[in-house]
Amino acid sequence: MKTARTKICLIIGDPVSHSLSPLMHNTAYEAVGLGEEFVYLAAQVKVEKIKETVEAVRTLGIRGLTCTVPHKTAVILYLDMVDETAQKIGAVNTIVNDQGHLIGYNTDWIGAITPLKQRGDLRGKNVLVIGAGGAARAIVYGLMHEKAHVTIVNRTAERARALADEFHCLWIDNASNDFISSQDIIINATSIGMHPHIVEVPIQTCSIHRAQILMDIVYVPHETEFLRQGKSKGATIIYGVEMLLHQGIAQFELYTGVPAPVDTMSETLKNALHI
Ligand code: NAP
Repeated sequence: MKTARTKICLIIGDPVSHSLSPLMHNTAYEAVGLGEEFVYLAAQVKVEKIKETVEAVRTLGIRGLTCTVPHKTAVILYLDMVDETAQKIGAVNTIVNDQGHLIGYNTDWIGAITPLKQRGDLRGKNVLVIGAGGAARAIVYGLMHEKAHVTIVNRTAERARALADEFHCLWIDNASNDFISSQDIIINATSIGMHPHIVEVPIQTCSIHRAQILMDIVYVPHETEFLRQGKSKGATIIYGVEMLLHQGIAQFELYTGVPAPVDTMSETLKNALHI
């Protein structure tokens, strides 16, 4: 039961109605006995309304604000403090309202790096990151933090170059089959694979082999064409839902200060995605 003391958390994005975060967080609150203390909602917010939205967070005393596309960078300007990691990444996906003091964090990098580290040490591994948008920034930060050898490739090569310069890693214009087969890990951090690009792959998969790990951050559909083709070559597959889960776990703990019910959150996402 919600009461006058219930704290509100909110995800903003445009669009946002597809988000699984409200379901994941609300189920988790119930699981740890915080169902009365917390509620998690969603609001569609246009990017030009971000300033007013942050003001409303202060005015209404909203406890946590999750930012998804297109707000992760624009929101930074209106916060009181941005944690050092989020500053380096240049994007905030999690804002904690500590008695009117708004602090920005980034949990996307934890979301991506945790499932990779569960498969083995990243130090010295050759990793190809496809994409140079907001999610790719968080992933490249995390990989460099773990001392991997990172190369970026992106549709707009100039953005790959700028990101590589910023994080002191490599970039390439096009990934040849030889280059692709030389990588230990390949991560799709673009929106290729989701609607309306469901039948597309972000790179050629003919040289993918069983010693490689393929990760996709797209989670709808659960198994993208990229992962489907990689799996058929015997590669180890990491689904986008794992990133969603682990960024959500870190976020839950920032909002509530309580250890997240990992199994409940994982099961909730699997059920919602019919996995
Ligand atoms: P973004 O900042 O808009 O970046 C989009 C990236 O995808 C850019 O590199 C862009 O290339 C590339 N791209 C878009 N359309 C393309 C196309 N038709 N062909 C080739 N490349 C294309 O978005 P983002 O925040 O990084 O998010 C990217 C994806 O990750 C989204 O699908 C998002 O839902 C997903 N995501 C998942 C999680 C998770 O927890 N699993 C977390 C965050 C994001 P250009 O630079 O050339 O435009």
